[in-house]
Amino acid sequence: MEDLKKLVILGGGESGLGAALLGKKHNWLVFLSERGSIPEKNKLRLLKEAISFEENGHSTEKILVADLVVKSPGIPDEAPIVVRLLEEGIPVISEIEFAFQYKGNAIIIGITGTNGKSTTTALTYHLLWGGQKSVGLGGNIGYSFARILAEEGEKEVYVLELSSFQLDGIKEFRPNVGILLNISPDHLDRYAYRMENYVQAKFKLTANQQKSDWFIYNQDDSWISDYIDKHELIGNSCPVRSVYPEYRGPLEIKGHFFRLSNPALKGPHNLFNAHCAILAALLVGIPANRIQERLDNFVSLPHRMERVGEIKGVSFVNDSKATNVESVFYALQSVESPVIWIVGGVDKGNDYSTLLSVVAEKVKGIICMGVDNHRIIKAFGHLNKPLREVKSAQEAVSEGFLMAADGDIVLLSPACASFDLFKNYEDRGMQFKQAVELLQIANKG
Ligand code: ADP
Repeated sequence: MEDLKKLVILGGGESGLGAALLGKKHNWLVFLSERGSIPEKNKLRLLKEAISFEENGHSTEKILVADLVVKSPGIPDEAPIVVRLLEEGIPVISEIEFAFQYKGNAIIIGITGTNGKSTTTALTYHLLWGGQKSVGLGGNIGYSFARILAEEGEKEVYVLELSSFQLDGIKEFRPNVGILLNISPDHLDRYAYRMENYVQAKFKLTANQQKSDWFIYNQDDSWISDYIDKHELIGNSCPVRSVYPEYRGPLEIKGHFFRLSNPALKGPHNLFNAHCAILAALLVGIPANRIQERLDNFVSLPHRMERVGEIKGVSFVNDSKATNVESVFYALQSVESPVIWIVGGVDKGNDYSTLLSVVAEKVKGIICMGVDNHRIIKAFGHLNKPLREVKSAQEAVSEGFLMAADGDIVLLSPACASFDLFKNYEDRGMQFKQAVELLQIANKG
């Protein structure tokens, strides 16, 4: 026991549990410490694996003996325990970095950006799945990278969704194919309210790339192009357009033509996401005809422009995952019919001005679903659209249905976090779906 190197993990969520399992697998003496409470499921797993842990507080003396500390992406660098560790010269890395050390020869496709990460990650995985190379999916989607390395057999390719917080704590992590989708203001509280710090964190994706690697990025994003103008990048650049003024399909990529007729890939943002995913799949050797087959049977993720029902010609679309202004912009842009827009929740200091013209053009009525709606009313009230305030998904759905006519869309795309009325965005989306189902039943009778 004495000779084992000591690994301390801060945080008992998905990434902490993954790091603990991977650490144990590679003969570290693991101790996990959580400031709050550890989810019951994770605690049972730690007990089963005989991994020691504590919750509801950090015992400094047990933490400062570490040879290495893996920190959950949710813990900021300014947290007192992290500051203390760094003062003591103890290395603190992220779970992604820790896992990277154990990936063997696997190829890594790393996907980041402010919006579209999960969709593009899921699509890339879907394009690769069932082909000649074995493939794993994880990171900020599903299980943590460390957990899939600990629990699933070795894979030849890993498709990873990466948040800026996960990228913050990397040192050597290097994706063979990196995808940077877009950058718009978000999470600025973690970046001293300086956009350049957030941009820097996103570009950590490329920090360790080598000449043989690929960097796929959004060439129409000004934050990205400004950064590229000022910094030298080592990987092979693959710029992708995200503005398609004349798009009439099919999409030509590396001499192959791809049809994007699958409704799950509707809208200019998905065209762009798909372009990036197809490029990544081609780069790891998936044949074009196979990619086309897989594009045709992709099913979109729940809570992202998900059609959940139709009543008397009115469609209901759940885009609960749209928690910022940028994603709502793309949601509204991607629909053709008039929209009854359900918006609101916990506003993270949104600037709604970029939505004004698309709301004026596409939105027929506004339903504010939040505890405090004054910022939304202030931003859009002067457009003189019918506007209602509601306090539940059920009310929002029935009010939406009342405002809508045959052919319209009732769209939940809130631009805000959900914590005022719901547990999280999934809960908000589920309650919306349930309310639509109930209304469907009521309208059948
Ligand atoms: P993330 O994982 O980055 O939060 P998701 O794939 O879950 O992104 O999508 C979040 C929201 O952003 C959805 O509402 C979706 O409609 C919208 N969206 C998806 N792709 C893009 C994109 N490329 N640009 C802007 N918005 C997007």
